[in-house]
Amino acid sequence: LLFSTGLAAETYTVGTSAGFPPFEYVEDGEIVGFDIDLMEAIGEEQGFEVEFVDISFDSLIPGLNAGQFDIVAAGMTITEERAEVVDFTDPYFSANQAVLVREDSEDDLTVLYGDNKLAVQTGTTGDLWVEENLQDPEIFTGDVTHFDTFVMAVQDLVNENVDGVVLDTPVAQRYAEENPVEMVAEIITGEEYGLAVADGNTELLEKLNEGLEQVRESGRMDELLDKHF
Ligand code: GLN
Repeated sequence: LLFSTGLAAETYTVGTSAGFPPFEYVEDGEIVGFDIDLMEAIGEEQGFEVEFVDISFDSLIPGLNAGQFDIVAAGMTITEERAEVVDFTDPYFSANQAVLVREDSEDDLTVLYGDNKLAVQTGTTGDLWVEENLQDPEIFTGDVTHFDTFVMAVQDLVNENVDGVVLDTPVAQRYAEENPVEMVAEIITGEEYGLAVADGNTELLEKLNEGLEQVRESGRMDELLDKHF
């Protein structure tokens, strides 16, 4: 045939880190979650398809800048430091940090004091918060273990290798529903999540911002929030 039946839609590759339920996680071997549905909804509005790549959270920004994928959708907090090297869309979700401990432990906020073992996911705002706020040896003399994924950090908490995990509130809540762990403190950091594109990729950034707006206005955003939270 000398003609094709239609124009193939553009496909964008989206980097994510699927240990961040309910935003992105693996279920029956598939990456699912709020960010996944959100990207698909934006793609439908803006006429593109999406394909996901699952890697460790701290490899997302380097991968985006190296051209391994076009977009990052990973519950990523918009921070000044990150905004120097990538471009963020308008915010789409607000969160704080939280502390998880084992259900049977006597720790609460006290886990942030003295000689305790904490776990974080490398390169996250929780990692940064611990680094910036638990420096004073008069307050915290314990260890901080860095994991590639929150799945491993929470597993180590359940296995009693660490005493607390610092992570984003909505994700801490979800882990607490599904594991013998509980959320004992909220640290008000006032974070906002954005999608990211490589620095200067204005064309794609505009599509994402327009798509976000359309997803909000059509009521689809509320449907996705209801579905996942
Ligand atoms: N919101 C946090 C951050 O941006 C954690 C994101 C994540 O672990 N996927 O660092």
